[in-house]
Amino acid sequence: MLGGMQDFELRVPRLLDHAAREHWGREIVTRWADGSETRTTWAGIARDARKLAQALERLGVKKGDRVATLAMNHSRHLVAWYGAIGMGGVVHTINPRLFDDQLAFIGNHAEDRVLFYDKAFAPIVERMKPEWRTIQHYYCFDGDGRGSFEALLAQEDGNYAWVEGGERDPCMLCYTSGTTGNPKGVVYSHRSSVIHAITELQPAEFDLSTQSVVLPIVPMFHAVGWGLPFACAAVGAKFVFSAVNEPRILCELMNREKVTHSAGVPTVWFGMFQHMDATGDAPGHLKIVTIGGSAAPRAMIERIMKMGVRVNHAWGMTETSPIGTMGAPSADWDEMSFDSQVDQVSKQGKVPFGVELRVVDDEGNLQPRDGQSSGRLQVRGPWVIRQYFQDESGPCVDADNWFDTGDVAVLHPDGVMQITDRAKDVIKSGGEWISSVELENAAVGCAGVAEAAAIGVYHPRWDERPILLVVRKPDSQVSVEDIQAHLAQHVAKWWLPDEVHFVESLPHTATGKLLKTAIREQYKDFKLAAA
Ligand code: AMP
Repeated sequence: MLGGMQDFELRVPRLLDHAAREHWGREIVTRWADGSETRTTWAGIARDARKLAQALERLGVKKGDRVATLAMNHSRHLVAWYGAIGMGGVVHTINPRLFDDQLAFIGNHAEDRVLFYDKAFAPIVERMKPEWRTIQHYYCFDGDGRGSFEALLAQEDGNYAWVEGGERDPCMLCYTSGTTGNPKGVVYSHRSSVIHAITELQPAEFDLSTQSVVLPIVPMFHAVGWGLPFACAAVGAKFVFSAVNEPRILCELMNREKVTHSAGVPTVWFGMFQHMDATGDAPGHLKIVTIGGSAAPRAMIERIMKMGVRVNHAWGMTETSPIGTMGAPSADWDEMSFDSQVDQVSKQGKVPFGVELRVVDDEGNLQPRDGQSSGRLQVRGPWVIRQYFQDESGPCVDADNWFDTGDVAVLHPDGVMQITDRAKDVIKSGGEWISSVELENAAVGCAGVAEAAAIGVYHPRWDERPILLVVRKPDSQVSVEDIQAHLAQHVAKWWLPDEVHFVESLPHTATGKLLKTAIREQYKDFKLAAA
C-alpha cells in the first residue's frame, strides 16, 4: 500500500527532549540529605544529562554497558538516568538495603562499569569496593571536589547528540530478590519504558499532566521508581524530590511546593499518620496518593480518602515495570456509598490497556472471573518480563507469554483483581522483601541450631516482621542473643527477626521441606510483644 506513517523509535531520551523543549521551565526541586535545597528545571536536567553522557563516553563507557546508581531520589540521580541512557548505557539501580552478599552478586552479575552513589551510602561503597570486580569509576552525587558528580559534569560543554538505536535496546536493569537463589535482573527496553510511561499518564492510572506536582516517596531503586521519572517527563510535571524519607520533611515539602501527587509503599503512610497525629500537620494540596508494593490496608485507604484525596491502589512487580493494576474509581463511583468506595479501593484494581491478567489453578486450568475462584495470577503485556538478565535457562513465560507472578488472586466479574495470598514465603516488611530462606539458612549456621523456620507475622507499622522458630540441637544451650548476634553477621539489620522462639520440632512435607503453610496457620494470630 502506498503511503504510511513515520518510523518513530520509542526511545527514552525523546521523553527528556520533549520535557526540555515543551516544559523547559517546569521545576525539579531537591531537598538534600544535609538539609540544603536546589532547584533546576527540565531544561537544566537535559543540559546536565548531555554533559554526563559526554563524561561517560570519555570514561570509556560503551553502548550497552551498565552504569550503576546507589542513591535516593534527587535531581542528580535523574540526570544520571537520562545521561547514561542517552549515551546508550543501561542504568542499574542498586537497592542500598540489600545485604553484602547480594550487593556483591548483583554488581558483578550486572558487570557495572561506573557507580554513582550518595554520600550517605559511602560506607557501603567502601565495604564493597574490593568485592565489585568490574566497577572502574566511582563518583559521589553529593560529594565535593574531584570524584564528585558535579566535578565530572564541569569538564563537559553539553554539546552532545544522543546515541541512536532501536526501541528494543535495553535501557534499565533492576534486580529482584526472589525466595530462592540469587537475585534476578529485570531488563527494561526503551520501548517498554516509553509505553509504560505514556500509560501512567492516564486518568485511571497516575493521572498526570503539566499541572501535576509529584513527590515520589518510592525510591528510584524500587522497580524503576514506579516509572515516574519517565512518565513525568512526558507531560513536564514538576518534581519534588527528598533524599530523606522523614514524615516531617515530606509534609513540609508537600505543603510548600503544593504537591498534588505522591506515591509510596503503605509503611510510608503509617509514618505520615503518626506525624500528623503528633503535630496536627497535614499535606494540604494532595489530590492523588498511589499506594502499592504490598496490600494497602483498608483503614489507611479510608483515612486518606477522608482527607479528600483519591487513593490509587497499585499492584505490580519489578517484572511488570511495575504497573499491573490500579484501583481507580469505577464507572458507578459517584453512586456508591463511601464504604463501598473504600471496599473497592481495598482491592488491587483493574488493568490498563496493554496488560492482560488471568488466574489459573495449579494444573493450569483457567479460572472463571467470578470473584471467588482463586489461583495463580498470570500476566502478559508489552512491559512484562520475558526473560531475566543473563538467564541461560531461557524465557520465564509460557508459549503464550504468560508470566506466573507467584501471587494468588481472584478476578471479579467487573475485572477488578484481588490478591488473596502470596504463593511465595517471602516476608514483606515495609514494602521490602525479606527472604525467609536466607534467614533460615543463616540461622542454621549458628552453632547449636538444628533447624529454623522464618515466617512473617502481622506488624501494625511494617505490615509484616519476621519471627524465627528454632529447634535446638540436643544438649545445646544456644540462646536468643547468640542467634541474633550470629544473624547480624550475615543479614541486613532490618532483616533480624523481631522475636526468636525455641520449639521442640517443626512440621515437614513429604519431601522433607518445612511445611510453611502449617507454621503460618499456627502463628496467624500471633502478636509481637513490641508491636
Ligand atoms: P516487587 O517486585 O518487590 O515490587 O514485589 C512484587 C510483589 O509485591 C507482588 O508479586 C506482590 O506479591 C506484592 N504486591 C505489590 N503490590 C501489591 C498490592 N497492591 N497488594 C498486594 N501485594 C502487592
